[in-house]
Amino acid sequence: MTPILSNNYYINFQEESYLKLNEFIASNTPSKIFIMVDENTHEHCLPILMEALETSINIEIIEIESGEENKNLDTCSGVWHALTELGADRKSLMINLGGGVITDLGGFVASCFKRGIAFVNIPTTLLSMVDASVGGKTGVDLGVLKNQIGLFSDPEMVLIDTRYLETVTEREICSGLAEIIKYGLSYDIKIWDEINSFKKFNIKNISTLIHRSIEIKNEVVTEDPKENGLRKVLNFGHTLGHAIESYFLESENKEKLTHGEAIAIGMITETYISEKLLNFPIEKLNEIKQLLVKIYGKTIIKKSDYNPIIELLIHDKKNVSGSVNFVLLKDFEKYKFNCKVEKDLLIEALDYYNS
Ligand code: NAD
Repeated sequence: MTPILSNNYYINFQEESYLKLNEFIASNTPSKIFIMVDENTHEHCLPILMEALETSINIEIIEIESGEENKNLDTCSGVWHALTELGADRKSLMINLGGGVITDLGGFVASCFKRGIAFVNIPTTLLSMVDASVGGKTGVDLGVLKNQIGLFSDPEMVLIDTRYLETVTEREICSGLAEIIKYGLSYDIKIWDEINSFKKFNIKNISTLIHRSIEIKNEVVTEDPKENGLRKVLNFGHTLGHAIESYFLESENKEKLTHGEAIAIGMITETYISEKLLNFPIEKLNEIKQLLVKIYGKTIIKKSDYNPIIELLIHDKKNVSGSVNFVLLKDFEKYKFNCKVEKDLLIEALDYYNS
């Protein structure tokens, strides 16, 4: 698969990506290499990376605990201390080997340590491959506020090796698939058509979709790095989706949804709103609902859940001056930014999802 050029770094694929990494290490001769993992990527992914690395430079492993709840400043502080004790200097290289939590936190840790050391991202979940690893956003959560602390900072390179996906659970794979579907509906309908034609998903039939998704994300973020315009297209399905994700996370009596499961509900409800406000074709709306419900199942959202979800929507960090802005679709690939939606229509959209 062809490498993709981002701002000033490459996203490399499969075996060739390790050749590039080894070349990079040989020509930059870092003083030490630090590989950041969590307990799962330590067990499942590190052996693959260690076998591919060809260097005599000293390698240290730094392990953090997995999970979004550890994506915070306390963990960063622990990693900064570990780097200091292990003798990291400004010529050290950090390799972030993991899902979005590791690449977000690792990128942030590296960018702040001694005012910035070089880092490489090796995403190991589908979500982190098609979304988190590209675009330069690094950071951590502050209490319940997601990604509240962070900075834009680019890696030296990104390596995509789909072998890592073999140990990712099917539920996590489906979570990442929602982002691929989002690119399909809002940007490149061929992706949607391909997913629609799948009898069963497997790593082989999604590897070209991974490449195309990264191409799209890269195209969007290089044109609009700071989200002043085009980058907003990436928020399709995420406005209601994020509110639903947070609501299920915060409610004690509800089972936590994956990011993708929440975004799937967001895409169904936001397409419904698109049909009402922008005449999105109704037969395509029904097609979207049918496939997404087939993949993600139907989540129970009670009438009593509607108000708290809408409250959370109003507090979404992407809102400007208290007004909720949606990205809606006039048709497949035809998006419209900054659409205002009344509360009654939000309720109707949740009713449509439940129907
Ligand atoms: P994650 O990093 O928490 O990984 C999910 C789980 O899978 C973890 O338990 C992890 O240990 C495990 N895992 C990872 N790779 C594995 C492998 N190959 N085999 C077995 N287990 C493995 O979650 P995620 O879904 O990858 O990423 C979510 C994070 O990404 C969120 O914090 C989100 O904010 C962030 N994100 C960032 C951006 C961005 O632009 N920077 C975009 C989207 C999401």
